[in-house]
Amino acid sequence: MLRIEELEVSYGAISAVKGLSLELNQGEIVALIGNNGAGKTSTLKAISGMLKPSGGRVEFMGEKISGLPPHKIAARGIALAPEGRGIFAGLSVLENLEMGAFLRKNKESIQKDLHKVYQLFPVLEERKNQKGGTLSGGEQQMLAIGRALMSDPKALLLDEPSLGLAPQVVESIFETIKEINQTGIPILLIEQNVYLALEVANRGYVIETGEIILNDLAQNLLHNEMVQKAYLGIE
Ligand code: ATP
Repeated sequence: MLRIEELEVSYGAISAVKGLSLELNQGEIVALIGNNGAGKTSTLKAISGMLKPSGGRVEFMGEKISGLPPHKIAARGIALAPEGRGIFAGLSVLENLEMGAFLRKNKESIQKDLHKVYQLFPVLEERKNQKGGTLSGGEQQMLAIGRALMSDPKALLLDEPSLGLAPQVVESIFETIKEINQTGIPILLIEQNVYLALEVANRGYVIETGEIILNDLAQNLLHNEMVQKAYLGIE
């Protein structure tokens, strides 16, 4: 449903993504893995319209979306939970969640989705009146994902959901990522924690200096010698 062909992203003279092709199909969790600076975030920003690609094409549900502004891409049904969370520190948890639904009009279905988000992340309901900025790192990550879900997305892009979080919190967030996927939302997952990402994903792409160097079923990548050496610390 999401098809990226020969994507290129540049920052002035710096070329961050160099002809990247990738697909996310209905029902899947796909991991895009690679080291710091490999071009993962630039790829997500290009998909969501925050950066204009300098080349290539992004299609969603059979229609070209590359070149559209972020709000139009969001309106097509692609939601992004960004790295660094991007939540509004001065707004309450509930207000942050409501911001995620700003493009929607049907109050009843917004309430339904709010209820679903609270079921996935009960701590967000407990803290609904608390300011976003007072949440722990893990809770802020949950809020960022919850806010993305409030747009009732057809696909979800997650940028580094494990970043800076304690292992137990990460485990619980990844369990929830699986649950979200099981509700029928395909997920493109950007992760530096390669083991975790491949454990939860169906397929994976390995990106190095802006190019895909490997692409396979996640289970195969977990057993791939190069992946084990370069990303899993297995000799
Ligand atoms: P991280 O995990 O650190 O976010 P990443 O794989 O997501 O890494 P990107 O953030 O996409 O990588 O960066 C890819 C390349 O583009 C890097 O070399 C980075 O230095 C460069 N880059 C990213 N943002 C900018 C910017 N605003 N201006 C100039 N260069 C940038």
